[in-house]
Amino acid sequence: MLVSGERTMALYCPACEQLQYHNFSLFEVSCSPRSFQCACGFIQGHIVKKNQRYEVRLLCPSGNRVRLLYSFKEFWRAPLLTFYSPDGGDVLGFFGGSKNVEEAVSAFDSDLLQPEDFYEPEIMSAILVYLQKLAVANKIGCKCQHPAVGIDVYPDKVELVCSNCGSAMLMGATSQEDLLNLYSLSEIKMQPASYTYLGEWLKPLR
Ligand SMILES: [Zn+2]
Ligand SMILES: [Zn+2]
Repeated sequence: MLVSGERTMALYCPACEQLQYHNFSLFEVSCSPRSFQCACGFIQGHIVKKNQRYEVRLLCPSGNRVRLLYSFKEFWRAPLLTFYSPDGGDVLGFFGGSKNVEEAVSAFDSDLLQPEDFYEPEIMSAILVYLQKLAVANKIGCKCQHPAVGIDVYPDKVELVCSNCGSAMLMGATSQEDLLNLYSLSEIKMQPASYTYLGEWLKPLR
């Protein structure tokens, strides 16, 4: 629970498409709307206190106005709130303690890698398509008792991670060889609590 009134809000700016952090105190928010301006000059939104509620007014990337209502208690107590647009479910920003907000932003950004972030976008997209195919066919798993395998995507590599036992398989995503290594597998079953680099693992098989 947060006791002080200091909060951080991170908002995606519809104008410059950058993330803008705002640090402020909840004591600054009253019944006259407090505005939040991006470094680019665009007014990203307002927060206003209305009776026992806080209203957050934002703009969607589509330009639609969004009003999000929070109870006084929720707004003061929540370590982290995520602002979603009601129509598309887009994340518009985060609000809460500064550490919580920073963590949420970095987790969100890593999910949102854009094609131009990848070292080799074509190799990466072929790898993701193939992994997706395997996953849909239930061909990605872990031999532990309660497998829960997820895919983490980085600019130059992909990691399969089992959140139950912590096993991981890392594969490069920058070369034709990385792609062929993956194509040589019709199924991926990880050993519990293991850490494998796909390129190394395949070598003895050749
Ligand atoms: Zn901006
Ligand atoms: Zn596992």
